[in-house]
Amino acid sequence: MSKKYSFETNAIRTQLNRTEHLEHSVPMYLTSSFVFEDAEDMRASFAEEKERNIYSRYSNPNNNEFVEKVCQMEGAEAGFAFASGMAAVFSTLASLLDSGDHILSAQSIFGSTHTLFNSFFPKWNISHSYFKIDALEDIADMVKPKTKLIYAESPTNPGVDVLDLEALGRIAKQHNLLLVIDNCFASPYLQQPIKFGADLVIHSGTKLMDGQGRVLAGITVGSAALIEKVYRFSRITGPALSPFNAWVLSKSLETLAIRVDRHCENALKLAEFLEQHPQVNWVKYPFLKSHPNYEIAKKQMKAGGCVVAFEIKGGLEAGRQFFDSIQLLSLSANLGDSRSIVTHPASTTHSKLSVEERQAAGITDGMVRVSVGLEHISDIIADIEQALGK
Ligand SMILES: *Cc1c(COP(=O)(O)O)cnc(C)c1O
Repeated sequence: MSKKYSFETNAIRTQLNRTEHLEHSVPMYLTSSFVFEDAEDMRASFAEEKERNIYSRYSNPNNNEFVEKVCQMEGAEAGFAFASGMAAVFSTLASLLDSGDHILSAQSIFGSTHTLFNSFFPKWNISHSYFKIDALEDIADMVKPKTKLIYAESPTNPGVDVLDLEALGRIAKQHNLLLVIDNCFASPYLQQPIKFGADLVIHSGTKLMDGQGRVLAGITVGSAALIEKVYRFSRITGPALSPFNAWVLSKSLETLAIRVDRHCENALKLAEFLEQHPQVNWVKYPFLKSHPNYEIAKKQMKAGGCVVAFEIKGGLEAGRQFFDSIQLLSLSANLGDSRSIVTHPASTTHSKLSVEERQAAGITDGMVRVSVGLEHISDIIADIEQALGK
C-alpha cells in the first residue's frame, strides 16, 4: 500500500501477498523456522545477502505485516514487534544505551517504566533525571555530557497530562539527543510523534491496538538506522512477538480508526458528565477545555483518547466505596479495551512508586482512571453515577 490511500484504507488493505490458495484474509504463519532450498540458499540467507524469513525470533510474515501497518500509520521507515509493551521499552532503550549513559525522562511515565529506570538500569550504570512535564524549559539545564535521549509519554498514564511534542522535538534537536515517545495512550490514529521530531515511537499493542483485551504486544518504529540497532539487539535477546498475536493485532488494526473514534466520543461525554458531578474534585481529559494543556492536545491529537482521570471527594475511603459499588464496569488494570475499566492507580499500576514519587507524578489516593470502552455511553455513565452516589 502507498501514500495514495488514507489511514483507514491502508490499515485494511495492507496485507501479505496471497499464497497459492488465494485466501482473502491473511493466514497465520505458526512456524518457528523456514526452510532453505539448498546449501547455497542456506549460506546466503544466514549471511543476510537476501531479505527473507529464517527463524521467527528474527522475523515472521505475520509480524512483518503488523510492523508494516504500524510503520505506515506512524510515518516510520522500519520497526520491530515485541512480546509486550515493556519488552519494547526495555529492548529499545537497552539497544541504544551504553554503560554510563544518562536518560532525561518525563516525571509522569508508566509505572513499570519508572521501575525500570529506578531499579534496574542502575545495574548497568545507566542513570536518569526526571523533568517536570509542565516545565520543559528546565530540560536544557538538566542535559549532561552523557545524556543520550529524552523519554516521554503523551498523554500520560494515568494522569492524562499532555506534553508539547513539538517543543520536545525542538529541545532534543538543539541538544543532539534522541527523542523516544511512548505513544500508547494516543494510538497511531490520534497522534504521530515522528511528525513532531520523535526518533522512535513505542507502543504497548496490548491497549488500543488490540482493543479487545486479548493479547500482550509491543512495537517500536522509527528510522531504518535506529531500528537496525533495535533489531540487532532483539534478534539475539529474544523478546519477539508471537506470530499468533501479530495476526490478531494486524486484524485489530483494520478497525482501529472506527473503534478509537467511538472510544473518544464516549470518553468526552463521560468527562463532561463528571465535570459537573458534586462528588468529583477534578476531571482530566485532553479534549476538555479545562485541561491545562487543552490547546496543545488540540494541536497534536485528532481526539482526546480513551482514558479519563478524576478524583473522588473523600480520598482513599471514598475511592474504595466507589470501586466496591461499580456493577457493570470492570475492576482491572488494562486499558484501551472494548469493555470499560476502572482502575485505582495508587494501589495498582503505580503502587511501586514512593508516596513522594506518586505525588510528583500527580497520582493522588482518590484518583480513579477510567478506560472508556465501547458499551453504550448511557450505560457507562449510569454505572459510574450510581457508584458515585453511594
Ligand atoms: C501498558 C503500558 C505499557 C506497557 O505495556 P505492556 O504491554 O503491558 O507491557 C507501556 N506504556 C504505557 C503508557 C502503557 O499504558
